[in-house]
Amino acid sequence: MKKGLILFTASTLSPLVLASTLVYEAKQADGNPRLKLSVDTSEIETFEVMKPRNLTEAEPPKFVCYNGEQVVEGAYNQSLTCDTLSWELPFLQTDPLGFNIAEQTNQYSAEKGWFFFSEWSSLPRVQTDQGITESKLCVPGVLENCYDLPTLDQAPLLLMWGIDSIVISEQNYRFELRSDVSAVIDNQAQWLPTFKQQLNYLSQVFSAPQEINWQMNVFGREMETGNVSGAAGYSSINVNVPLKDGALVDASYPHLLKILAHEAIHGLDTRAHPLWITEGLAEYYAQKSLKQTPFALPDAKIQWQAIAQRLPFAATGLLQANRDLVELNQQHYQMLFYTKAVAFWQQLDEELSAAGQSLDTYMTQPLAGEDYQLSTEFTQAVISAIGAEKWAQLTEVYL
Ligand SMILES: [Zn+2]
Repeated sequence: MKKGLILFTASTLSPLVLASTLVYEAKQADGNPRLKLSVDTSEIETFEVMKPRNLTEAEPPKFVCYNGEQVVEGAYNQSLTCDTLSWELPFLQTDPLGFNIAEQTNQYSAEKGWFFFSEWSSLPRVQTDQGITESKLCVPGVLENCYDLPTLDQAPLLLMWGIDSIVISEQNYRFELRSDVSAVIDNQAQWLPTFKQQLNYLSQVFSAPQEINWQMNVFGREMETGNVSGAAGYSSINVNVPLKDGALVDASYPHLLKILAHEAIHGLDTRAHPLWITEGLAEYYAQKSLKQTPFALPDAKIQWQAIAQRLPFAATGLLQANRDLVELNQQHYQMLFYTKAVAFWQQLDEELSAAGQSLDTYMTQPLAGEDYQLSTEFTQAVISAIGAEKWAQLTEVYL
């Protein structure tokens, strides 16, 4: 039995049942911004290598298959037999104005010593029907840092290492917080209690079933770039905190907390919804979770009205925008999901509140219906609370 493939005897009864874990091991030469990944495949008779999940047209990495020292010819989606599979990934030096997390690519900071790994275009997968029950990726670190590989319908692995973390834990969650802005950690008393409150509220609303054990990675990015964002990974939330000349300012905190909450919602609610629902809700609830705190953000409906005045496609309904985004690749419609859709959820919540209810209690219902619409169950329940006329008005304005 070789290192890398851990075998567990699952039963003492015959026939012997074996279940095994496949380990993808990532190693790094000191200071070298290349990552070498290898998988011990010696216990597998035959397997295929699947191309990595992709966000772009980037070529998948070239892999090498070894039998001892000998290289075995091989290509993606072909039957293979060898002892070790390996490939290398280059990491790009990050933007001096701060890592733009929306890019979700492999990056590092020579200055600060961190590395960010993104599964997109980076992680070929070994596929076999020979008893592999789980797969892990182990990244470099002081201790062994191994993470379960998500399935292909789950969020991608997005991981950071190279700088110290602090652990934030409560009864039902544990976060490893890392940041390339030391003030985020030094000033945690300013924002962390609020984030904990938000998380308690949000995990109730979305009745999070699973235990939370996530990386929480915070990257500084200058406000002047005009884009700070976040990305939810499988067991990680990754966000930008806006900086002014390298420093945290008062305006940094509401954005940090909002983006953290937005990405956390993606982790708590993993149901597959059309994008206008997923993004609009994450953004609405991220803002709502800050409402009674000192970090409350400007009213989303008023914000939308201001944006709509200068947006040529503001009148496009959310369903149509989602359809054209998916079917005609009309990317510009995406911004409606972070603005108009937020205003929709806010107004619906206000109508429900006027009727003595709250949108919160509807969140565990199935939300997605046919053809980008909301589900019939959800719509019927809402209509019985606010009335058909109010619902028709909302539909007319937003959907
Ligand atoms: Zn989002």
